[in-house]
Amino acid sequence: MRAFACPGCGQLVPFEAETCLACGTPLGFAPDTGEIVASAGRVPCANAVLAGCNWLLAPGEDAGGLCLSCRLTRTHPHDADLTAGSLTGEAFRAAEAAKRRLVFQLLELGLPVVPYDGEQGLAFDLLSSAVEPVVTGHADGVVTIDLAEGDDAHREQMRRELGEPYRTMLGHLRHESGHYFWTVLVGPDPEALESFRALFDDERADYAEALRRHYDGGPPAEWVSRYVSAYATAHPWEDWAEAFAHYLHIRDTLQTAASFGMLVTGPGLDPELMAAPHLEPDDRFEDILDDWVPLTYALNAVNRSMGRDDLYPFVLRPAVVAKLGFVHRLVGSLTRSRPLPVP
Ligand SMILES: [Zn+2]
Ligand SMILES: [Zn+2]
Ligand SMILES: [Zn+2]
Repeated sequence: MRAFACPGCGQLVPFEAETCLACGTPLGFAPDTGEIVASAGRVPCANAVLAGCNWLLAPGEDAGGLCLSCRLTRTHPHDADLTAGSLTGEAFRAAEAAKRRLVFQLLELGLPVVPYDGEQGLAFDLLSSAVEPVVTGHADGVVTIDLAEGDDAHREQMRRELGEPYRTMLGHLRHESGHYFWTVLVGPDPEALESFRALFDDERADYAEALRRHYDGGPPAEWVSRYVSAYATAHPWEDWAEAFAHYLHIRDTLQTAASFGMLVTGPGLDPELMAAPHLEPDDRFEDILDDWVPLTYALNAVNRSMGRDDLYPFVLRPAVVAKLGFVHRLVGSLTRSRPLPVP
């Protein structure tokens, strides 16, 4: 994420800003410019209240219409179930807020964000298992999310039951969109598919059988040496989705740190090198990692100083780095072949 300033007074404001807390200027995010701007004179997204959306329509865009992020939501609970203060309503707004972060990053990386047209593109069904049975997952461009995951207590319980060190709504969205981007970046490209199978194994392995085996028997011993998470061991598709999500974690967090001018120095680190973070699609993944690893040490140390668990509870072994590097090369190749979004 980038750091944003209030156009009225220059005060730092978050991506979610609706008003500047310092000068009171009404604000919103303009996806056409990628900036937080004064909302006066702009049309707000039609889901401003329902989804808590602070995105603004581009000049000339359909008045009364939805922003790009809200347009991606194909299904959500009935409006009557989304009232302020209701559990489903708050979970829905938390999921939409996380989705806006996902969409922002995909656009920043130059990945295509095209609403689903019935055959192609990306859509989200945000459903509540409090109302009906919901299985979080992806099929043919449609991502299904269980809004119960937006409830902190429920998600923490799931995290413990599944033995996961990290579980967030944004992480779910990154993982599930990763399945979609496999069909964009890997599936149609025979060369990419061959490299994929060499790194992640053959995705034609029976999926239902693989998941059953995973949930019955758990991950293999020593999975840490080859996989980014225990769940990644379930099937090559899950391994890819976990790697894709992890790549987005790294790129977003590095961008945030750089935007705020965070500079990690310390024993054994070259301050000159650390002062020029690698944020371009052409940068070598090894260089990105050289920025990333010291930052994670610092962020974990900061969390421990506050008595919290590690912010980054992961270990990246060489086999995992190779998978992340593969994701980086594919994302970079797509970005280079397309004009970058503004700005
Ligand atoms: Zn201000
Ligand atoms: Zn919106
Ligand atoms: Zn998955």
